[in-house]
Amino acid sequence: MIPGAATVARCFRLAAVASLLLVLAGCATTPAVAPQRSSLAHWTPSPNFNARKAQLIVLHHTSIGDPVAALRVLRTRNSEGPVSAHYMIEADGRIDQLVDDGDRAWHAGAARWAGMTDINSSSIGIEIDNDGESPFSQPQIQSLVNLLADLTSRLGIPREAVVGHGDIAPGRKNDPSVQFPWATLARYGFGLWPDAVLIPAPPGFDSLAAMRLVGYDVSNPRNAIIAFHRHYRAMETDTLDATDANILYSLQRKLMAPRQ
Ligand SMILES: [Zn+2]
Repeated sequence: MIPGAATVARCFRLAAVASLLLVLAGCATTPAVAPQRSSLAHWTPSPNFNARKAQLIVLHHTSIGDPVAALRVLRTRNSEGPVSAHYMIEADGRIDQLVDDGDRAWHAGAARWAGMTDINSSSIGIEIDNDGESPFSQPQIQSLVNLLADLTSRLGIPREAVVGHGDIAPGRKNDPSVQFPWATLARYGFGLWPDAVLIPAPPGFDSLAAMRLVGYDVSNPRNAIIAFHRHYRAMETDTLDATDANILYSLQRKLMAPRQ
């Protein structure tokens, strides 16, 4: 038997009330996050702890250049599996947050930086929607600068701890592209950047050792040099020269200077 229109409408109203009650009941009884404790141990809490927090910010480009499609991928999967990021910034400057700052987004994959290997557990991931070849838009970079100011002050992440996906996964990733304006970010005080006037590196200066000190995985020197060039010289060549040594000497002195 097919029910009449009045019966159907009443059923929908009852269903809506029932689902609202279920939602309210769920809010009242379900904890937001279940405690992660061993059943083998006696819970003897100490007050001396805080939430584990990110130490690094990793920038990406989406390689898509279409914010609707990019958000869809970051909320589902790409060809390799489920992926996400904490934030995505569109070309018009709009910022979407997809994962809580305190949670682990899936953006870095196999990577290494400054000896750290589980980068997803120790970083905030920011995707910048871009096709991988075009310049990044001015509103997009302004929103990124605003977001970096917010994250570094709110989460206590050092302002120089901003790197690219290509820096932490040399040979595997190349984002953000050579179009990314690292020098502009540096003018706002984000990322590690050399002095404007470079002092010549001393004779015998070891550029690869300095790259390792900066954070690069130099186990494959060629891949590391290409990643370093992409970030610091907007090119993707694989041979170190005197300018690289001078840049790395400047970065090394900044890293080894006593903190103010
Ligand atoms: Zn990436």
